[in-house]
Order: sequence, then C-alpha cells, then structure tokens
Amino acid sequence: MLIGAHVGVSGGYPQAVDYAVSVGCECMQVFAKSPRQWSARPLDPEVASAFRRRCAEVGMGPVVVHTAYLINLGSVDDALWERSWRALADELARAETLGAALVVTHLGTQFRADPGGTHTRIAAGVAAALRLAGPSDVRLLLENTAGAGTTYGSGPEELGAVLSGLGDDRERVGVCLDTCHAHAAGYDLSDRQVWRDLVDSFERCCDMPIEAVHANDCAFPPGEHKDRHAWIGDGTIGKDGFAAMFDALAGTGVPVILEMPGEVPVKDEENLRRLRELRAASAAHASRAV
Ligand SMILES: [Zn+2]
Ligand SMILES: [Zn+2]
Repeated sequence: MLIGAHVGVSGGYPQAVDYAVSVGCECMQVFAKSPRQWSARPLDPEVASAFRRRCAEVGMGPVVVHTAYLINLGSVDDALWERSWRALADELARAETLGAALVVTHLGTQFRADPGGTHTRIAAGVAAALRLAGPSDVRLLLENTAGAGTTYGSGPEELGAVLSGLGDDRERVGVCLDTCHAHAAGYDLSDRQVWRDLVDSFERCCDMPIEAVHANDCAFPPGEHKDRHAWIGDGTIGKDGFAAMFDALAGTGVPVILEMPGEVPVKDEENLRRLRELRAASAAHASRAV
C-alpha cells in the first residue's frame, strides 16, 4: 500500500509535488479546480505538463483528483443534475490533463422525487459524465459518505447499487473508502472484524475491491454521522483501527491518502510518519506469521 496526502495547489501544481515529496508522500491527491466553484479557467497546459514531469521524475503516484463539493448527481432539479454531471466530466478531463490515474467523487443527495430510485438517477449522471468526457484511462471512484442528512452513499450497498446501474460504463468506475465517513456512518473501524467484514462487503456489493482509501481518524463516536476528521490515532478509530486497515488491505497496491486538519507541513509529516509506522508493523507481523 502507498501512503500520501491531499496537497494544496495554491502555490502551483509542480510545487505541490515538491511539497508532497518533502513531507514523505508516495502518492498524492489534489483538487483540479476550486472545490467550491462550478467553473474555472482551463488548466494551463504548460503547468499541467510540468506537474506530470515532476511526478515522473520523483516517482510520485498514483495522483488522485478529488472533485468539487457542489456536484449533486441525485438532485431532483434537472438543471442542477445536468450541471453536476457536466462538472464531473470537466473534472475527468482535468485529471487526464494532470496525468492523474484516479478521480474521487461524492455522489450527492437522495433523489427527492423517488428516494428508492436514487441509485438510478446517480448512475445516469455518472454515465452521462463518462460519455461527455470521452474515452480515457482515468478511473472514476465513488466515495462513501458519513450518511448525514439525505446524502447518498454511506456504505457498500448504496455504492454497489449505483455501479450496477452503469452497464458498459461500469468498467471505468470503482470505489474509494473514507475511513472517517464509514466510521461515522456506523461501521466501527476500531474493530478488526468490522474492517474485514467491510472490505468483504465492498467486494461483494461492488463486485470489485476498494481502489483507494481516504485515511482519516474520526473525532466523534461511530454511528453519529459527524464527518470531522482527526489525526491518525487521535480519534475514535484509533491506532489499532488503522493497524487493522493495513492488515485488511495488505498485499494490495491501494493508495492511502490523508485529509488532515491542522497546519502544514506538520499535519502531513506527523500523520505520514504514523501511517508508515503502522504499515511497517503490519508487514513485520505478516512476515512473522508465514
Ligand atoms: Zn471526499
Ligand atoms: Zn470527510
């Protein structure tokens, strides 16, 4: 497993790679545009190619793009729904320009006209975005949510239902597990058995393994639907919970990305150090068991 962090790009994309290297990232996540705006100027092709070059030089990857928070593929408002899938297509195109392998997106809210049909509404939006973006090697990953309010996608069943509605487009789509969101949604990830069951049920419901992890500890107890990230080991998932993560996902090449509150560079240096330690302990444990 590779570990990395979500890195700000306000200082420039190539510079973000240098920052990522300096704090110990092996992989990284960025926004491809402001996450709180619908539209933005296209990426400067020269900046994007400098970013790709820098990543290749230092062996940084995979690069993950996180989409804007405004996207709501379950919206009952047809104009907002269309705006959402067009924005998702734009994110996929930007990811391609940046040489990113993966795009992670939240799905949005329940479809108010027919809550039971939310997965169909969302799948239609995802399919429209993929068609508009055109053929590409960039994979789109659907992220689980904390299940607050009417947000959709709090677990493997809901994400799997969307994937099932995709038909041929399904090949380009997978899932991303955010540990804080899953814990807040009621999967107590401080517990080893819950980790194993959750990884299994993603495989069963989605017919494919988890392809990326957002590794965030959780500031509130499990099941409270509160999405407040905490440093690794300082929240209610705890050090043992993240040790269980490395054991449950051992042998996979899954990128594990931190999305931490706090000051740079300390938050990233320290949390990457904690993850590195847990990963090494998990590997040592596995080799002793053989
Ligand atoms: Zn997210
Ligand atoms: Zn979150």
